Amino acid sequence: MHSLEHVPVKTLPPERFEEVLDEQQWKVLEAANEHAREIFGARRIWSINSTASGGGVAEMLHSLIAYARGAGVDARWAVIEGEPDFFVLTKRIHHQLHGSAGDGAGLGEADRAVYERVTRENADRLAAELNPGDVVLLHDPQTAGMVPRLCELDVHVIWRSHIGIDRPNAQVEEAWRFLLPYLEPAQAFIFTRRDYAPPELAQRDITIVPPSIDVFAPKNHAMTREQVASICGVAGIVDAEAIVPPEYVHHDGTTDLVGRRAEMDQDEPIGLHDPLVVQVSRWDPLKDPVGVMTGFAEHVAPYVANARLLLAGPSPAGVTDDPEGGVVLEQVRAARAALPAEVRRRIHLASLPMEDRSENAAIVNAIQRHAAVVVQKSLAEGFGLTVSEAMWKARPVVASRVGGIQDQIVDGESGVLLDDPKDLSAYGAAVAGLLADPARSAAIGEAARERVRRDFLGSRHLIQYLGLFARLIEHDGHEDAVA
Ligand code: UDP
Repeated sequence: MHSLEHVPVKTLPPERFEEVLDEQQWKVLEAANEHAREIFGARRIWSINSTASGGGVAEMLHSLIAYARGAGVDARWAVIEGEPDFFVLTKRIHHQLHGSAGDGAGLGEADRAVYERVTRENADRLAAELNPGDVVLLHDPQTAGMVPRLCELDVHVIWRSHIGIDRPNAQVEEAWRFLLPYLEPAQAFIFTRRDYAPPELAQRDITIVPPSIDVFAPKNHAMTREQVASICGVAGIVDAEAIVPPEYVHHDGTTDLVGRRAEMDQDEPIGLHDPLVVQVSRWDPLKDPVGVMTGFAEHVAPYVANARLLLAGPSPAGVTDDPEGGVVLEQVRAARAALPAEVRRRIHLASLPMEDRSENAAIVNAIQRHAAVVVQKSLAEGFGLTVSEAMWKARPVVASRVGGIQDQIVDGESGVLLDDPKDLSAYGAAVAGLLADPARSAAIGEAARERVRRDFLGSRHLIQYLGLFARLIEHDGHEDAVA
């Protein structure tokens, strides 16, 4: 039996947080790191999921595990393996937990057989590597089936779901009926929002842990105004010469240059000083790109001279696991083409190069920083990382009051929430209002950044994990597991 595939993770110094936290927060993080070293000793903290790259969960694991390791904790990451049938099935469960039917095949007994066999094999492989007292954090539906086998061991098993929707429907209920029998013996659970936990787990040990952003990653690292202009220029987003090198900073502090260009759908270029309204998203109907565009055309463009809209998303050619993206982008292109020329020339679509994920992230970073207003007019959203990303860049964000977006923005203080995401005139008025009032936009942007500093950085995430794990391992008889 071969072991699970270990994901190599860097070790990064948690001291980096000192530059972005206030004094009190930094003291709390320092104390937490010391506490972690003391109580974990030789225990290993395992994160298990199904992919080492692609998607928000993998991105977060790379960052959080690196800082935990930097703090002296033996944090490890392994990914499960399975045959294509298994991943077709778990993709379906994923879609169902989001409330849609996925491929529509439902969840039957034959699916259980595949699911139990694959998760059992992976659990056996992991079991062979665990020591008594280890902590195992299993992520998402792909790993739920590992819980019973791992709970036979003298280890702590926590299951975390990163998925959820505001109002569960029959699809969601079916997915939970499938997963719950496996989850029963877990010691504790983590959800992004209280509403995402199934009622059957209401009496169990549940901790709410929202996601966080990595402010030292290329997606969020600080950039000067000149760097922003150069990267937007070189990537073909705006009409500007690179006055400084289009440089961005990797997670580990090394640097690189943006070289690839976005594919633009536009009638004329965006001027460097044109006020720009931006939504960055996958090409997905739930992000309502056509609504963002129509609302801008009807309720912003007529009232704010010079304002332009940019919809940016991954080039579908570069995202093999999202065939729907290309179809949606074509729909958005068609909707744009159908607009009257006078407003169409002010609406721009950018397909961002995906060959190099860090370069793509740096372009997203520069676009978000360049925006006068950032929009996230989603019809549904688990959390909505793009919102915190833009808030950290001190941008005023106009976003729908759905899912985790509500937890990020305090309406009127750190952004503007839209009660009804389909109300295009309210959306347009919110955007136009911010464009017309730079002082209010700046104040909201500053409050947004402070809100992210307080609640949505990796430091908060790590401290919450520590709180939960410390409670679970207390008095388990392995207190003397000193490294
Ligand atoms: N994103 C990106 N490149 C793109 C478009 C989006 O890196 O061309 C990122 C975006 O910055 C964010 C993530 O993809 O970090 C999307 O996460 P979110 O929670 O907003 O939505 P999801 O795609 O998970 O529904």
